[in-house]
Amino acid sequence: MWMEGSLRSSREPVQAVVAHGAHDLRVEEVPSPELGPLDAEVGVVVGGICGSDLHYYHEGGVGDFMIRQPLVLGHEIAGTVLRVGEGAELTSGERVVIDPSSSCGLCPMCRRGRPNLCSAVQFLGSAAHFPHVQGGFRQRLITSASNCVPVPDGLPLETAVMSEPLAVAVHAVVRAGTLIGRRVLVTGAGPIGLLIALVASRAGASAVIVTDIESEPLERAARVGATQTVHVTSGTQELDQVDAAFEASGAPPALASALRAVRPGGQLVVVGLPPGLVPIPAGAMITREVDVTGSFRFDNDEFRAALTMLANGLDVSPLLTGRFPLKDAVKAFDAASDRSKTTKVQLTFN
Ligand SMILES: [Zn+2]
Ligand SMILES: [Zn+2]
Repeated sequence: MWMEGSLRSSREPVQAVVAHGAHDLRVEEVPSPELGPLDAEVGVVVGGICGSDLHYYHEGGVGDFMIRQPLVLGHEIAGTVLRVGEGAELTSGERVVIDPSSSCGLCPMCRRGRPNLCSAVQFLGSAAHFPHVQGGFRQRLITSASNCVPVPDGLPLETAVMSEPLAVAVHAVVRAGTLIGRRVLVTGAGPIGLLIALVASRAGASAVIVTDIESEPLERAARVGATQTVHVTSGTQELDQVDAAFEASGAPPALASALRAVRPGGQLVVVGLPPGLVPIPAGAMITREVDVTGSFRFDNDEFRAALTMLANGLDVSPLLTGRFPLKDAVKAFDAASDRSKTTKVQLTFN
């Protein structure tokens, strides 16, 4: 239903979580853009804090992408449609989760069916382009209706919003090919590592071994289907041989350990983004013909598949370790930064 009141209020500024630089996170008013004919305005209900949000918070950037203007963070967003543009195929009142990725559809990678590698991709809450793409940690978000994926009845938005990180895990498993009957290693028991463990065990892996440098995340790994957990100390570690390994920590020693753990002819999927240049045991890769595969984000089909898995009862509750109201965003970011205690921290809006 289209309401006068919401139209009027929609141009009013909204409260948002804005990163101004390293360790300068503020809850403040930001302007609301205009609703385009193919847009929807979403009343944000819940947002998940992601590793990249934490990098913006702690370092003022992710990898090479530094904040050059105030940036509203957040790309794991779910809420309720408040109003839609005249050409948008959505209904107000509908509950939706946002696919944060908008690929151009025209570049060579898009035309090859690899939209996650689009050279012009716009990703919610990202400093990759200038001006930055402002994110979804705000009370109301205007976004293209095509990025709004309806949430099946009965699935809480707090669960549905896990579609985004789960889609990253789905994509990584798709990159690996079949895991049926395979022994799988996951290095790094953060949100993505745990979700990969969950998807890999659903995908028929005969064993799922998860490693981390802290014991608390490994306890959560056991709760999402890891058949074995290994507490690694600092440095590289010798691990049992596996058919496929997923590196999900971004830590250079873990990448080296994972590569050595893959059996000859096996596969390593690298998901965690390490900082800068990283030494790898190239000999172990070459002489044993280990296939090394990069995995980056996901496409819209994988995002929808992730939502369907959640609607079908995939249990991600062991990962949901904290929820804070918008006004306590800084507390929420600090809590999310303590990975001994938390895996996925969420913010609630409105
Ligand atoms: Zn994320
Ligand atoms: Zn493209």
